[in-house]
Parts: sequence; C-alpha cells; structure tokens
Amino acid sequence: MTTQASGPCRSAPEAALYSQAILRHAIETKQFEPWFQPQFSIDGRTLLGVEVLARWHHPERGIVAPAHFIDQIENGPHIEAFNALLLGRALIEQVCWADAGHVVPISFNLPGTLLQQPGTADALRSVVEAHAGDPARVTLEITETTRTATLDHYVAGVAALKSAGFRTSLDDFGCGYASVSNLVAAPFDEMKLDRSLVHDALRHPKLMAALRTILDFAREVGICVIAEGVEDQDDLIPLRQFGCERVQGYLYGPPVQANQFSTLVHEHHTSRSRRSFTHTRQPGMRYAHIPSLHDLRRIDGSRTQSALRVFGMNGA
Ligand code: C2E
Ligand code: CA
Ligand code: CA
Repeated sequence: MTTQASGPCRSAPEAALYSQAILRHAIETKQFEPWFQPQFSIDGRTLLGVEVLARWHHPERGIVAPAHFIDQIENGPHIEAFNALLLGRALIEQVCWADAGHVVPISFNLPGTLLQQPGTADALRSVVEAHAGDPARVTLEITETTRTATLDHYVAGVAALKSAGFRTSLDDFGCGYASVSNLVAAPFDEMKLDRSLVHDALRHPKLMAALRTILDFAREVGICVIAEGVEDQDDLIPLRQFGCERVQGYLYGPPVQANQFSTLVHEHHTSRSRRSFTHTRQPGMRYAHIPSLHDLRRIDGSRTQSALRVFGMNGA
C-alpha cells in the first residue's frame, strides 16, 4: 500500500488502472471507507480535528490506497457519488463521537475541479444534512491537481462552499498548483502546508525562510495554518519557531480505521479530563498515541519532491 496518490503533489500510481464500471460498482457496494488521521495542537495535547482519507476495501486485493484509484475517480463521472458515500460514512462516525460527548471537526478532500460545478456546495450540504451533521464542523480541503480554469470560477466556487456553511482549506500549499493568488483571492479559512515544505525543513535554509515568510503572511491576513507530513521532532522546531500551532503527520498518528480512531478520541478525552483533576502531566508532554497506534505507524521513507512555488510561481 502506498501513501500518496498521483498528481503534481502526489507520487505516481503503482497499480493497473481500474475501469469506471469497476469503480461505480465499488461505490454502489460501499467498498470505499473513510480512514481518519488526527490533527493536533503542536504540543500534542489537544485533538483539533481529523482528516478523512479514502481507502478501498477491495474484495480480492485488501486495503487499496488512494494512489491506485483517486485520480480516476476525480476525473470520472462518479466523483459526486464517491463524495456522498465517503463523506456520509465519515459523518456517521462524527455524529457517534458527538453522541459520546466528543466534538471532532472533520476535514474532507475536495478536488478543485468540482468548484466549477454549480451544484457542488448544495450537494455536499445535502449530504451533511441527511446525516444530521453540521457544515461548520466540516472543513473542505481543496486540492488542485490541474491549473485553475479561471480565477473567477475558483473564487466563486470557494465562496459557495463558505455560504453553505463549510470551512475551507487550501490543501498542499507550497506544492503544485496551490498558488498564493488562489489563496489571496478566495475566502479560505485555512492553508495546509505541504509535506515538502515541512519535513526536513530544518536542514534546508531556503525552506526555513519560506516557512517563516508563509507563516508571517498567514498571521497578517488571518488565515489559520496547519502543517502536514510532520514526521519527527526536528520537523517541529521551525514550526514552533515561526508560530504554526496545528499539525498532522506520522509523528502524531497515521490514518487509521474508524474503530481505532474512536478509541483514540475516547482515550484522548478521558486522558484530558483526568489530567484536569490531577495535573499529573507536564506542559508540552504528548499523550496522543495509544500503544496500538504506535504499531500502525508507517514511515514510507519516500521524499516528496520539493516543488517549492511559494509565491505564485505556477502562473495561476
Ligand atoms: P493529502 O490530502 O495531501 O493527504 C495526506 C497524505 O499524506 C495521505 O496519504 C496520508 O496518509 C499521508 N501522510 C500523512 N501523514 C504523513 C507523514 O507524516 N508522512 C508522509 N510521508 N505521508 C503522510 P493517502 O491517504 O495515501 O492520500 C493521498 C492523497 O489522495 C491525499 O493527499 C489526497 O490528495 C487524496 N485523497 C485521499 N483521500 C481522498 C478522498 O477521500 N477524496 C479525494 N478527492 N482525494 C483523496
Ligand atoms: Ca488533504
Ligand atoms: Ca495535502
């Protein structure tokens, strides 16, 4: 199983392509399931949210990663049905966590191409309402795998998502087509720093300078920043130094299945409420990992090519 799908910020797919008929059948028979990767405050003390990541529970091949199917889904006729299935299943989990007293916002990946389709915001809102969810607890991470057709359509698409009550995030910032012009023109609540900016930045002075500039900029214009691909303690040093407070990556926990994530949510909140009575933990001490999650950690070792286009160099 690979960890990245293809596209400008994704590694090349490794498997044979699946036909649209096979993908449609897989959607109809609910073979796609949401996995969940936690998002934490940088000190690891507060669970801030969770990213929904698709996995295909293939009847013969077992768990298949998005690298093998997501481009075909995004560029085929079944993306709306796929979104409805996956977001719906994630919302069912979110409502269960809320019923148990744990409010956990979810982040859901949305291809930028859908912004040009007028019905997208309403369709997503209908899915949320059908599952008794709240769009304010859903962040839509916009992923650009192609150049934006026109900035006007792009801005209008993001604005429509905001009007429907969703939070909005620009995914993969610093890589591929996620440009500053899109970030500045459209009403984004959040930018998500790509792993190519985050992992190993400490050893690359230019990345350090880029991180500092981006975080200063975000602070000035009031955009929330989350860093992804945080893999080791060294990755935290520049993030702390330049004031990035939200993180996601293997250091804090890999994507896991719903039942494992429910355990994490429960243990996290139990641990927090116990701590508020006993004050036994030291500030800065992380307690997000439960032993079973340690075992699940995967470090794939591959370095995403650093396509550093920090300030709009992709000509969008
Ligand atoms: P993404 O949205 O940038 O998601 C982050 C990817 O990085 C995930 O790979 C995640 O498992 C992986 N990752 C998380 N932490 C680390 C880390 O510390 N180090 C490294 N090396 N990788 C880390 P995954 O789950 O294979 O997904 C790959 C891409 O496929 C996603 O990239 C996203 O663009 C796409 N994708 C996944 N699920 C969906 C979905 O439901 N809908 C759509 N449209 N795209 C999806
Ligand atoms: Ca994402
Ligand atoms: Ca990303």
